[in-house]
Amino acid sequence: MTKYFDGSIAQLEEKVEARLSDYRFQHVRRVRDYAIQLAEANGVDPDQAEVAALVHDYAKERSDSDFIAVIKRKKMDPDLMNWGNYIWHGVVGAEMIHDELGITDSDILTAVREHTTGAGATMSKLSQVIFMADYLEVGRDFDGVQVARDITKQSLGQGVKYEIVHTLARLVKKETPIYPKSLETYNYWVRKEN
Ligand code: GDP
Ligand code: FE
Ligand code: FE
Repeated sequence: MTKYFDGSIAQLEEKVEARLSDYRFQHVRRVRDYAIQLAEANGVDPDQAEVAALVHDYAKERSDSDFIAVIKRKKMDPDLMNWGNYIWHGVVGAEMIHDELGITDSDILTAVREHTTGAGATMSKLSQVIFMADYLEVGRDFDGVQVARDITKQSLGQGVKYEIVHTLARLVKKETPIYPKSLETYNYWVRKEN
């Protein structure tokens, strides 16, 4: 039994596993391990971080039509229709996690919504932990990942800054549209001293 899920962690893990390919489920488990460590180091409840990490990509393998149905049924921001799975799996996925898994903790749902783009001044420590654990889990091997891990160990906030700067630089180089929330994250964290 956990405080954040009406059942055991093992039951939650099974529900997530049933919705994901093995490849992605293994990513989720590594994010969970990293998130627990970052939570312990940063005064975040590790049980809350564990649940948030386990569900963060719950919706990642859903079809576009599933997301569109939720956007319409819940009368979500119509601008969402201009984006795709990469934004929907967090923002719209949080609704599925609420409705299908019965997760009602608003901090967890917000951390899921923000896990791809981050957020500005309102980004909670839990949300920062999930954002960083997703980027740094031991299966990640992009250039700079070890530097990013070291920076994040020193300062969670500097880690968030590193991630948003490098992710945006990569997206701009590919001439990919930037979701407005990602720009908000950049503008807030790029000014942060620590
Ligand atoms: P994953 O679900 O574990 O693969 O990781 P994320 O949820 O963090 O990212 C999903 C995808 O969204 C990645 O390919 C990111 O590069 C991409 N992404 C992050 N921010 C933005 C953005 O502002 N715009 C666009 N177009 N893609 C983004
Ligand atoms: Fe994701
Ligand atoms: Fe992920």
